[in-house]
Amino acid sequence: MNEMFLEPDRAAMSEMGGLVLDRVIDFIEGLPDRPTDNTTGAAVTADLVESFLAAPPEQPGDLKELLDRLDGAVGCAYETAGPGYLAYVPGGGLYSSALAEFYARGINRYGSLAFAAPALTALEESVLRWMAQEVCGLPQGSAGLLTTGGSMATFSAVVAARQEHLGEELDGGTLYVTQYTHHSVAKAARLAGLKARHVRTVPCDQDLRMDPGAAAAMIDADRRAGLRPFLIVGSAGTTDTGTVDPLPALADLAEREDLWFHVDAAYGGFFRLTERGRRQLEGTERADSVTLDPHKTLFLPFGTGALVVRDPAKLYAAHEGTGDYLQDIGTSGGLPNYAHMGPELTHEVRGLRAWLPLHLHGVSAFRKALDEKLDLAEHTHTALSRIPALEVPRRPDLSTVAFRVRPRDHSTHAATEADTATRKLLKRINNDPRLLLSSTLIDNRQTIRICIVTHRTHANRINDILDLIAHQTEQL
Ligand SMILES: *Cc1c(COP(=O)(O)O)cnc(C)c1O
Repeated sequence: MNEMFLEPDRAAMSEMGGLVLDRVIDFIEGLPDRPTDNTTGAAVTADLVESFLAAPPEQPGDLKELLDRLDGAVGCAYETAGPGYLAYVPGGGLYSSALAEFYARGINRYGSLAFAAPALTALEESVLRWMAQEVCGLPQGSAGLLTTGGSMATFSAVVAARQEHLGEELDGGTLYVTQYTHHSVAKAARLAGLKARHVRTVPCDQDLRMDPGAAAAMIDADRRAGLRPFLIVGSAGTTDTGTVDPLPALADLAEREDLWFHVDAAYGGFFRLTERGRRQLEGTERADSVTLDPHKTLFLPFGTGALVVRDPAKLYAAHEGTGDYLQDIGTSGGLPNYAHMGPELTHEVRGLRAWLPLHLHGVSAFRKALDEKLDLAEHTHTALSRIPALEVPRRPDLSTVAFRVRPRDHSTHAATEADTATRKLLKRINNDPRLLLSSTLIDNRQTIRICIVTHRTHANRINDILDLIAHQTEQL
């Protein structure tokens, strides 16, 4: 296939597509047996990395050879798509979504302004309305924007809240988070022109949830000091432990104090598809805006977040922009113009990657998969709680279980010893190629977390992992 032009003929397109498809299918089939961390052969990695830094050649290459090279790069990575990847917040990546994405890129429609592709805009809008109204429980009229991830969604939420409550005078604008709120909120505030010192850290209770009474006191004190409180952020599942803030109490507080109420449901939001999740995440439906991450708990490939808002007009108010070169644009016929709802102008038809899986598998498939994750987390909590040398301080609200080595006594020395032992345990556990876990600090103590999210993680893998943890804990 040398001497290829930019537009291959039908036979060449078909052959090229077949080559890529076969690789992807082989990859997915092989996932259960692939090691979770293949980045460790330092010398090999350095050579491989160096080879990929090379500039493109002047002359055409061969697709098969290029794919062979790519296999090397893909193999030298965390196995983020596999069943044993339980570090950070995993994302599995549905095959059906990858196909939708290929289709969307193939047809390359302009998804930013409704008049250019009204039916495809309606398709994207159906996904957003479903997320806003069915998943989050926001009222009729609520919708939003598909973004590249949770951070971008939160950024636009902060900007909309700022516009609504502060207008153009940002001085003194103050917002409220906890120490366990995702750092993307503070980053969004900084990007939105707010002062780092005005991102207030509200204390948490014993269960790591924002204390609404403490928040109320801080807001009051800030008002009296001449600041302008405008936004409170509740986590619908923190990244550290999946803990859900007391959302109904925070909604009450926001209402009383006239604040924008944002819920960061990047990790937890889609659990609302299940009965247990809906109970845990009660109060989400009272938010002004919610961050969701379909590339986490809707199992889509990386690169898809969502911001849903009670009143889309407020997103427009904060993001609308135009230029003379856009003067020929037609009317949107009541459909949204996504270009005016976020920072990006050009935007692919992002909705297809969610629409196809949702229509192909049906919502019940997602509900069942998420229920299974909640079951696995409960099972993990029970099993780890039975290991005397481990401390499993809290029942999981969702699908993240946090544990650490139990200190001998209550002394500071014992806590330091236990921290060292926890680090050692994590290292030993992660030496096993069937899994990868990550850690964090909870109560200022070293803590290992198991985050069960991908559609590929089932009981067999979790049981292997629990046996391994029990064994390695005994060996400490
Ligand atoms: C992952 C995560 C984010 C950030 O989302 P990205 O898609 O990584 O930008 C924000 N909040 C929470 C709770 C998360 O888990």
